[in-house]
Amino acid sequence: MAYNPPVAHNIPSKAQPIILIADDDQTSRDDLAVLLKNEGYRIVTVSDGESCLAAYQRESPQLVILDAMMPQMNGFECCKRLLALPGSAYTPILMITGLEDETTINKAFDCGVTDFITKPIRWPVLRQRIHLLIQKHQLYKEVEEANQKLSQLASVDDLTQLANRRVFSERLQQEWRRMAREKSNLSVILGDIDTFKAYNDTYGHLQGDQCLVKVARGFQQCLKRPADLAARYGGEEFAALLPNTSLAGAVHVAEVIRHFVKALALPHPHSANCDHVTISLGVASVIPSPHLIGTELLLQAADQALYKAKAEGRDRVVVDASMK
Ligand code: GH3
Ligand code: MG
Ligand code: MG
Repeated sequence: MAYNPPVAHNIPSKAQPIILIADDDQTSRDDLAVLLKNEGYRIVTVSDGESCLAAYQRESPQLVILDAMMPQMNGFECCKRLLALPGSAYTPILMITGLEDETTINKAFDCGVTDFITKPIRWPVLRQRIHLLIQKHQLYKEVEEANQKLSQLASVDDLTQLANRRVFSERLQQEWRRMAREKSNLSVILGDIDTFKAYNDTYGHLQGDQCLVKVARGFQQCLKRPADLAARYGGEEFAALLPNTSLAGAVHVAEVIRHFVKALALPHPHSANCDHVTISLGVASVIPSPHLIGTELLLQAADQALYKAKAEGRDRVVVDASMK
């Protein structure tokens, strides 16, 4: 292997890409390690497939260099097993083969390698390939992170950090189908802060926002089951989706939320019904039919109940039993 003078890149250790080298031949492994260390990479070396899988899980490298021919588990098998590990989908795997025949090359790509290089290794070529593979991997990671951020932005309400209405509607449809299959109750609670316009008028919009955050926390904390979902439904309106929950169960949860909001004891001198912030809640429940149109009816029923709660004096839970 030709050896060029080392180029130390002074990459800070935290940002140093990690390269995992698996090769049973100690001399090739160590030679490559020295060259790559001088390029500024952090190197982890192993001598067999099993150790490679273990080191991969321990180190989360940005690149794996695999020797195709290793005793026990060869590079092809190791590559397949690496790619089956969680989170490994985008990790580039560079295979080093002694042969360049069509069968070997096809076999390598069938196993999922990203690239391959044949022995004897020409260092300038390998150096550039590694550089490009690592750059590509970093780009993948950045795109993946940006996508996660985007989907978070698209699904979470910025102020309250609850799920937004879009997510609520999607989950309502999913749970509707699931409850239809299970022939079990799906319940919805709609809550609306009482005379909130007057609260904003009294304390200003910013304090109004703080009030919304506190009420939202109540919705989040009062829902205990993993499948329950709390969402910001509109300005000062919140919604809870409760799968596998009877009407009586949902009424209980709605009462817990109502008490939570009351216990916040947020002064509201111009409230129509009380001198503290309160919330009115409408509850509806149904064992879903297979037709998704029912989701609209369930929401309308909860909304009707909420409307009644307002009309009957606010700070209360009203049930719509029309869907039973
Ligand atoms: P009701 O008891 O009948 O529900 O009366 P209300 O005043 O709460 O209802 P109304 O629909 O008249 O007013 C809702 C208010 O909620 C008006 C609006 O300024 C306020 N609001 C909606 N979204 C936000 C928000 O994001 N932040 C703040 N601070 N206020 C909001
Ligand atoms: Mg409202
Ligand atoms: Mg209101």
